[in-house]
Amino acid sequence: MSGEVIRCKAAVAWEAGKPLVIEEVEVAPPQKMEVRLKILFTSLCHTDVYFWEAKGQNPLFPRILGHEAGGIVESVGEGVTELQPGDKVLPVFTGECGECRHCKSEESNMCDLLRINTDRGTMINDGKTRFSKDGNPIYHFLGTSTFSEYTVVHSGCVAKINPDAPLDKVCVLSCGISTGMGATLNVAKPKKGMTVAVFGLGAVGLAAAEGARIAGASRIIGIDLNESRANEAKKFGVTEFVNPKDHDKPIQEVIVAMTDGGVDRSVECTGNVRAMISAFECVHDGWGVAVLVGVPSKDDEFKTLPINFLNERTLKGTFFGNYKPRTDIPGVVEKYMNKEIEVEKFITHHVGFSDINKAFDLMLKGESLRCIIQMDS
Ligand code: NAD
Ligand code: ZN
Ligand code: ZN
Repeated sequence: MSGEVIRCKAAVAWEAGKPLVIEEVEVAPPQKMEVRLKILFTSLCHTDVYFWEAKGQNPLFPRILGHEAGGIVESVGEGVTELQPGDKVLPVFTGECGECRHCKSEESNMCDLLRINTDRGTMINDGKTRFSKDGNPIYHFLGTSTFSEYTVVHSGCVAKINPDAPLDKVCVLSCGISTGMGATLNVAKPKKGMTVAVFGLGAVGLAAAEGARIAGASRIIGIDLNESRANEAKKFGVTEFVNPKDHDKPIQEVIVAMTDGGVDRSVECTGNVRAMISAFECVHDGWGVAVLVGVPSKDDEFKTLPINFLNERTLKGTFFGNYKPRTDIPGVVEKYMNKEIEVEKFITHHVGFSDINKAFDLMLKGESLRCIIQMDS
């Protein structure tokens, strides 16, 4: 098939908030520095849902969503030397060109060329799409568009992983679990014995809690509006659960009172701007660090008093837990293979590709953490 158009099934989002439709689409061959992947498993992350709803985000349709997935390289375009057909890979929504100032910096994963761009629906090589139906283009999402049996991605957005890794499990490391764990371990960096608050106990937040447990946090306070997260959270090292609905004062005040002045670290994984502000205002003065992970609506503004910074609190944010996809993710997969990290407990549901809309329902109802979508069923 190399060099030819592939016809395959893809779940197309035709309109904001309307169920995806499984369509037969054409997938063009990969161009310079691109690869075409056969996706075997994909899962749903809340970021897909925001761009499908397009309430707080720019609408771009028709579009093929999806960015958390695992697959096999089907063919490679001109100039691709580090990947070949048959390689087992995880596509990642933010890339690593390897050449730019960010890729060369130990501190950044914000590649100049391939950093996340939520509004671009085309490939950077020629500004066109590789997907079409009856000759009409269908837009890409996050450079990955994994809700398709075949997709074309930039080779810099692909992590080549251990060929023995089970893709139905490690696919969740291509976004949510690495993001949450990395937000704590690479960005918040709690020291042993510190207290950590995690806002939002979906898969990303629970992975942040896992990171806090691995770092040796003494208390891990989980905050969520969904009461059913309380039980789930215990499996992830959360020591105390707080539901803002049970309190009539701002949740940051509750946390400050619980912790004699504030937590040492907090990680926000909700996407709600008020929770972001609470996550910042609940850290201890003098040393507290808050990390934002949730994707805000495009017009949200973060408002707090400057004195909160003067009192020596730090606010940070991160995409993908500061991991560099090609350099770091193969090692994260190895940690799973060596049983140093668990991913199974994040996987609460499975559906076949034809039932992909069920994965959206489960996430919107707050019933699932990660729902694995099997492409060949
Ligand atoms: P999810 O829907 O599974 O989990 C979010 C949780 O937050 C839910 O349990 C929900 O009840 C809770 N929540 C919502 N508003 C809240 C509030 N005001 N206070 C307390 N809890 C609240 O979503 P997920 O897939 O785990 O993703 C979490 C967030 O992380 C999303 O915003 C997603 O877009 C973002 N994300 C960011 C990155 C990144 O690289 N920065 C990567 C992946 C996901
Ligand atoms: Zn994601
Ligand atoms: Zn780069």
